[in-house]
Amino acid sequence: MPFKKEVKTRDRHVKNLAQIVGGAQSILYHKEDLLAYDCDGFTIHKHLPRAVVFPKTTQDVAAIVKYCSENKLPFLARGAGTGLSGGAIPLNDEVIISLVRMKRLLSVDLENRRAVVEPGFVNLKLTNSISDKGYYYAPDPSSQYCCTIGGNVAENAGGAHCLKYGVTTNHILGLEIVLPNGDIIEIGENGIPDSPGYDLLGLLTGSEGTLGIVTKITVRILKNPEAKQTVLAYFDKVSDGSQAVSDIISAGIVPAALEMMDKTAIKGVEAAAFPVGHPKDIDALLLIEVDGISAGIEEQINQILEVCKNRNVREVKVAQDEKERASWWANRKTGFGAMGAISPDYLVQDGVIPRSKLPEVLQKINKISEESGLRIANIFHAGDGNLHPLVLFDARIPGQTEMALKVGSACLQVCAEVGGTITGEHGVGIEKREEMRFVFTDEEIKAQTDIREVFNPDNLLNAGKLFPTPGRCAEIKNEMKAAATS
Ligand SMILES: Cc1cc2nc3c(=O)[nH]c(=O)nc-3n(C[C@H](O)[C@H](O)[C@H](O)COP(=O)(O)OP(=O)(O)OC[C@H]3O[C@@H](n4cnc5c(N)ncnc54)[C@H](O)[C@@H]3O)c2cc1C
Repeated sequence: MPFKKEVKTRDRHVKNLAQIVGGAQSILYHKEDLLAYDCDGFTIHKHLPRAVVFPKTTQDVAAIVKYCSENKLPFLARGAGTGLSGGAIPLNDEVIISLVRMKRLLSVDLENRRAVVEPGFVNLKLTNSISDKGYYYAPDPSSQYCCTIGGNVAENAGGAHCLKYGVTTNHILGLEIVLPNGDIIEIGENGIPDSPGYDLLGLLTGSEGTLGIVTKITVRILKNPEAKQTVLAYFDKVSDGSQAVSDIISAGIVPAALEMMDKTAIKGVEAAAFPVGHPKDIDALLLIEVDGISAGIEEQINQILEVCKNRNVREVKVAQDEKERASWWANRKTGFGAMGAISPDYLVQDGVIPRSKLPEVLQKINKISEESGLRIANIFHAGDGNLHPLVLFDARIPGQTEMALKVGSACLQVCAEVGGTITGEHGVGIEKREEMRFVFTDEEIKAQTDIREVFNPDNLLNAGKLFPTPGRCAEIKNEMKAAATS
């Protein structure tokens, strides 16, 4: 059916936007199509967008943004929609600019160890595209099989192997950005050290889609380590497991990954798609991976085994082959989704604490769980103190959604109180705006919102995210309450 006849739009803008992006096949505007875009991985809060457009080039993005800016239409960028803090939720009737059709690997430069990708390129595909040449892309969020590198830049994503290699910001060399007025700029050094001017790359990475839309990314790629070994350690007491984490780092070892799961989490992963036979009566497990040149690996493994023994480990084993190692990682990396096997709903939290506070904080989280009556599973990057309490609840039971939100917030408060912070990798989005007050003063928040105003003066790009805006916050909390009980 020709677009002109078919379109019974809510407004003329949909028609104009369709013309900009090349016709009806590049825009969604029917309510039933928009439903798939009313939230991201933070499913507690939902809003329909005005429309979803699918640009194929930077020029398309710039033209859409220019149109939105001139017509004062709110807009936001979206990658795969796996964000866990609501960053891609269209709170203000936004036009969603979906980057999923800009998904090409543009170049690989092994000599200079860099690759250039479009923002919709899926994270894991990069490593898969260069592994036969002996290279990989280090940041590995557990969602890497579907999340986009554009989304990773916006959230400054982390992952299991970021303990040794650093998070996304440490692997981004250059960005092409469409500013909220439609101008296109290139920032970063593309690998040339110490370029003059402000460090806009650092500013844009992790800005949660509030300062500009990323349309091209130059990333650092790394040579595959010569060797790696993986250890699984089972503990009868969480406190012994968490002490072992501190002991490993204090011994001078920096594992590539150092992950922990508690009893409730283990129950979930063993009931889901990738069970590996963890004992169900242990209180905690550690998944530890070391990599590097072959010569040093054996010694590090022996040190780790020794540390675990000294902390009363019940059983500790080294992966015998790649198949076993991969099964342990599949079990860990699908951990969040696995909670669906033991609970109708769950809310993922994302606090960071000094590693030494791990035993104390886990105890406090346990207390919050007991007091609220909601189970909390813990699956997390223990090595860098990045906790993920998963609050298990049932949204069908009146009051449980609000309780889960309260419990999540209380966990973040504990993190802030011990000198940590409220997000390690999932971002603030809409979920943790109020909790920003746990870690910043009004003046510190203002310094940041002033920067947003310079880039995004009309606040049309992803408004209402990242920072607390008191009036609107109260409104949203009420909306959440209403949504939970409807
Ligand atoms: C099962 C599961 C496991 C996860 N594990 C991890 C983990 O280990 N580590 C981790 O860090 N995260 C993890 N996440 C969270 C999520 O995958 C990451 O935040 C990821 O970076 C989001 O990418 P996306 O493409 O889905 O972005 P989206 O969810 O689409 O967007 C996220 C934010 O980025 C903005 N954005 C997206 N694309 C662009 C762009 N091109 N330019 C400007 N802004 C943009 C959006 O406006 C939004 O604010 C997990 C999520 C799930 C569901």
